[in-house]
Formats: sequence, C-alpha cells, structure tokens
Amino acid sequence: MNIPFQTKSKRSKPRILIVGGNFAGLETVIHLNPDHVDVMMIDPCPFFEFYPNINEIVSSVKKPYQLVLSKENILRRHGHKWFQDHVVNIDPKKKQIHTQNRLTLSYDICVLAIGSVVNTYHVDGVNSHAMFFKNTVDCYAICLKLNELLEHNSSASVVIVGSGMEGIEAMGEILRKYRDNKSVEVHMVEQADRVFPQGPDEIGKELKRLCIPYSVFWHTGKRVIAVEPNHVVLDSNQTLPSDLTLWSAGIQASNLIFDSGLSNTANGWARVSNTLQSMYHNDIFAIGNACELPNPVSKQAYHAMEMGECAANNIGLYLNDKELIDVKLSNKPKLLSFGDIDTFLIAGKTVIAGSMIAAAKESVYQYVMNHYDSEWAIAKWLHICQRAYRGAYQLGWQTFGSLEAIQRLPNIRFL
Ligand SMILES: Cc1cc2nc3c(=O)[nH]c(=O)nc-3n(C[C@H](O)[C@H](O)[C@H](O)COP(=O)(O)OP(=O)(O)OC[C@H]3O[C@@H](n4cnc5c(N)ncnc54)[C@H](O)[C@@H]3O)c2cc1C
Repeated sequence: MNIPFQTKSKRSKPRILIVGGNFAGLETVIHLNPDHVDVMMIDPCPFFEFYPNINEIVSSVKKPYQLVLSKENILRRHGHKWFQDHVVNIDPKKKQIHTQNRLTLSYDICVLAIGSVVNTYHVDGVNSHAMFFKNTVDCYAICLKLNELLEHNSSASVVIVGSGMEGIEAMGEILRKYRDNKSVEVHMVEQADRVFPQGPDEIGKELKRLCIPYSVFWHTGKRVIAVEPNHVVLDSNQTLPSDLTLWSAGIQASNLIFDSGLSNTANGWARVSNTLQSMYHNDIFAIGNACELPNPVSKQAYHAMEMGECAANNIGLYLNDKELIDVKLSNKPKLLSFGDIDTFLIAGKTVIAGSMIAAAKESVYQYVMNHYDSEWAIAKWLHICQRAYRGAYQLGWQTFGSLEAIQRLPNIRFL
C-alpha cells in the first residue's frame, strides 16, 4: 500500500503523526506549518463530525451530512496528509505506530487525539441490544429505528440509560418529534439519585416539570443490570419494556492508551503535564478527551480545540529546543438543549433557561463548521448560507411556527 509519509532517508522535515482527528487532532493540524513539518493524520473516520448537535439527527431537524466535513479536504487545504486507518498500537520506544491494516509508521512526534469510547460497565446485553449515541451514524440509526417502530407498532417504549448531557438531549429530540403521540413512552434511568447529576439540581427539577404533560417516566437511583431485546432489567429487579434502548451512560478511555504505556492509572486516560506532553514520553502529546491533565478538566469540545492549538505551538517549541508553554483552558458556559421545549445555559451554578438560547447553540455550530470549512471565500459563503437557510427553515419553523412556540419565546428565566 502506498503511504504518503516520507521515508526516513528522503526526509528533511520532522515527521508528525496525528492519531485521531476530530476536534483536538484537527485543531492541531491546522496550526502546523507544512513548510516546517511533515504531518500525517490517521483516523478510521473520514469525516469531521460536530458531535454537540448530532442529537438533532434523531428528530430529523438536521441531516447527517449537515454535521460533517471531509477530513481529507481539510488536511489537503492545509498542506498535510490524511490516511484512513485505525491505530492498534503505539510503540514509544521504537517511535512507531501499528495499524489495523498491518502498517507500521515511524514518527518524530506523535499526537494522540483519539477521544474516548462508550463505557458499557460490562452490563450484559448492551453491545447486542442497545444503541449508542456517539456519532452521526448512531443518531441516524436511532432516527430510522424510531420511524420503523412507529410504522409497524401501535406503541413504542424507549428507555434511555444515563441522564447526562447526551441522554437529556436525546430525550429532548424524541419529544420534539413524538411528544404528541401518546403511544410513545420514554423512560429515563439514572443511577444517581437525581436527574442530570453533572449540573445544578434546578435543571433536573425543571426537566421533570416540563415533561409532566408527556409520557415520560423518571427512574432515578436505579441501575440497569441487563439489556434484553424487549426490556431492560434494573437493580431493583424491576423490568422496563423497551423497544429501543439508548445507552448514554458515560465514556471511558480507549485501551490503546494503557496498552501503549501512556497511562498507569485505573481510569486509563493518557496522563500529561500542563504542556500536554505524555508523563512518560516527551515526544508524545496527548490532547482532548483522551488526556488527563494534572488538574483534570471536563471533557468538552472547546477544551479539545484549545488543547489542539496549544499542542501545535508546543511541537514548534519542542523542535526548536525552546521552553514549552502550559495549556490555558477557558471556562465557557455549557449549552444543554431539550428539543424545542427548552434550552439551558449553564455557567457554574447559574442556569438560564429559554427556547431563545437555542439560537446560541446554533451559532456555535455555525461558527465551528465555518472554522474548518473551505478557505475559498465563495465556497465558504455558500456553505454558510446553506447551513443558515437550513437552520432557519428547520429550527426557525419549530421556534416561531406555532402559537404555542411563540408563547414560549419570551420565557427566559433564571433557575
Ligand atoms: C452527543 C454528544 C454531545 C456533546 N455535546 C457537547 C457540547 O454541547 N459541548 C461540548 O463542548 N462538548 C460536547 N460533547 C463532547 C465533545 O464532543 C468531546 O469533548 C470532543 O469530541 C472531544 O474531542 P476529541 O478530538 O478529543 O475526541 P473526538 O471528537 O471523540 O475525536 C476522536 C477521533 O479519534 C479517532 N480515533 C479513535 N480511536 C482511534 C484509533 N485507534 N486510531 C485512529 N483514530 C482513532 C476517532 O475516529 C475520532 O475521529 C458532546 C459529545 C457527544 C457524543
């Protein structure tokens, strides 16, 4: 197979291998200068995916293609190389990586940006009978499954496991599409004793209040111990009927990190210093969800992007034998959407709710897609207009398109 990386004998520039290229990896490459370094990104997924809005695929408000961009195009535009493969092992001593397609690639500096994987907590039946909520393909599959269920059955029971951000946003989209259909019931199972345990208590209470008119059932303080084809079993021995089980119970580190000797802790995240260098190998940087800083931060896309930019700067400094800089991470508010029913802006303990806040979430989506999109002014503007038009048509109609929706608009409130 023809690998577009320079061979050692011919090369004059240091070889930078970026393993995994979504928020963190892409942000690194776009800040690296192809005149100074020979960069290749390797990732099994050919598309940049904007995860924070994939929930909208479930309700068909967005189509998968609206949330993706070609990584190969982005890299080519920036003068770098892209290769589609899955890295199965990193050998820090030999400075090599091994891929699923049995390739071995050497590097001078490796950037590990592989994100995280779903945590099933070894619960029986999750891999075979539950659906995940991790990328555009998962969300499109959920959308199709719901359509199919309601085409063939008179009723449907959906169980969502985990009331974190993903679980709540999934529930919001199901309610956006099906809340007027009384034969659809949604069960939320949360092992903590309150809904949305990662945020202020007021959000969980407000979500419960907003769901009173609908067929929504909350099961807090309960753990799922088995997922079967048509039901889930809780640790209280209660069973919940389930035509569709969505597993959004949390994330964990990929085994690749521990197996490559980049972690020595039970949680398996790649341990890095504040300069984002591996604690064990100076020539490996680990960034984004995959890494754990000395003072761990929440695993968010904007943190991944900030780390990506810092890693690129530090690679330049490292290659020039200069002192590396510490990563500076901002503390941006979180935006939690709940379909067209409500959106929450969470800044520490302060929570502001209101449908109008959905516009802020849409703006972040537009901004980031635009950030990675084509550099040709005409193409860029065309894509902005297309996304804005679709956003206005699909979201605007739901926000302003009925008396009930308009009545909700001024309803901005502090919780
Ligand atoms: C549904 C959902 C909603 C979210 N909402 C928000 C939000 O509102 N705000 C926010 O800030 N964050 C949000 N997040 C979190 C955010 O998406 C992550 O923090 C962010 O994606 C982390 O970026 P990353 O680049 O580290 O990892 P990822 O974006 O996960 O990218 C990892 C990349 O590595 C590749 N990869 C994995 N393993 C390998 C391997 N072995 N070899 C090669 N490549 C590999 C993957 O294919 C992928 O392209 C959300 C996440 C989800 C799933």
